[in-house]
Amino acid sequence: MKTIGIIGGMSYESSIHYYESINNQVNDIAGGLTCAKLIIYNVNFEDIRKLMLNNDWDKIGEELGKIAKILENAGADYIVIATNTMHKLADYVQSQINIPLIHIADCVADKCKKNNVLNVGLLGTKYTMVEDFLKNRLKENGLTVTTPQNEENINEIDRIIFDELCKGEIKDSSRQYYIDVINDMIKQNNIEGVILGCTEIEMLIKKDDLDIPIFDTTQSHIDSIVDYVLSE
Ligand code: GLU
Repeated sequence: MKTIGIIGGMSYESSIHYYESINNQVNDIAGGLTCAKLIIYNVNFEDIRKLMLNNDWDKIGEELGKIAKILENAGADYIVIATNTMHKLADYVQSQINIPLIHIADCVADKCKKNNVLNVGLLGTKYTMVEDFLKNRLKENGLTVTTPQNEENINEIDRIIFDELCKGEIKDSSRQYYIDVINDMIKQNNIEGVILGCTEIEMLIKKDDLDIPIFDTTQSHIDSIVDYVLSE
């Protein structure tokens, strides 16, 4: 069994899901009392969020790089960043360690391709939707990616993530907002599936809410992590 080092806490609501599901899935496969060998370094998201709002990505990179090294030194065989947005710093984090980082975009792109869904919509934080770091990685994996273009939509999707989902608040009105934005992308861009590109969105949107398949980055990441955990 391999040991996974998880950089978590962004938010802890989704890190709980990683912890629980990785262990459940590993146990379902391996049986007995088997659970996953995990080391989780939970950051204080309040500190990180302040740095995000100050646009101090160098400092966040420095922090995450240091944490990845601590996890490597503690015995991790692989590193996981349990958030999409922080994959903005994935290359830097990888450059600070000598073990592989399991990239969330590769995991979800794999799921899309296995389901023959190549034209996808992507929802996530403002950073994830507006900047190229995740979109480009999905495109390198062969996907065509559409994100909401309307600024009001982008800001509201982002606000719901930080003000509600990261605090564990699930509101019907927010669910409907996301559904409406996705349905617009189906009409205007003919998307065949939607990537939930933020590790908290799976708490809000379920597969029965939409007429097209959803590809949840959290679950895709977890499924790959389980494969790595159980690899020889
Ligand atoms: N968990 C979210 C994501 O997957 C947002 C929190 C963050 O900024 O890291 O992007």
